[in-house]
Amino acid sequence: MKLDVINSKVEESVWYSDGLAFTCSQCGNCCTGPPGYVWISQEEIHRLADFLKLSAEEVIKRFCRRFGDRLSLKERMTPQGQYDCIFLKESDETSAPAASKRKFCSVYPVRPLQCRTWPFWPENLNNRQSWNHAAKRCHGMNSGKRVFGVKEIHAIRDASDWPENPPTSATRK
Ligand code: SF4
Ligand code: SF4
Repeated sequence: MKLDVINSKVEESVWYSDGLAFTCSQCGNCCTGPPGYVWISQEEIHRLADFLKLSAEEVIKRFCRRFGDRLSLKERMTPQGQYDCIFLKESDETSAPAASKRKFCSVYPVRPLQCRTWPFWPENLNNRQSWNHAAKRCHGMNSGKRVFGVKEIHAIRDASDWPENPPTSATRK
């Protein structure tokens, strides 16, 4: 009981106590940009391997970079000098003009936890400015009818397990 009282006080005191709107439009912006890291665990490597019908060793060799004892997904530099995640693909609408071609995650059902919890990362939740700054690139933020409440935001932010169909998914209604 005591913990509930503390939690409700936390919920009231955060700047997003009224919740935050987010609906992913699958624009792919969060999968490109300046160089970065998409950390992936051994368990997630195995999920990727099953999805891609490859061995875990092959997934690491073809798609991952090692930093110390951690693995991050490889990136590919675009002609525009952006760094795309290795799994970001362009839609196959070959007749579409380049500017209107869509990019999408080719491993969306098994994307790592880091991708599944966006945009409810601690750095985006620091204050409204941080949130709005991230929303300049992620047009799903502050958009759509889906409003995430504080409890849900914190559950996503603090997730250490891999939700099968997280509420942040573009495919979730
Ligand atoms: S795994 Fe998919 S969702 Fe995650 S950064 Fe790469 S393309 Fe984007
Ligand atoms: S999370 Fe945001 S930036 Fe990423 S694909 Fe969805 S709308 Fe675009």
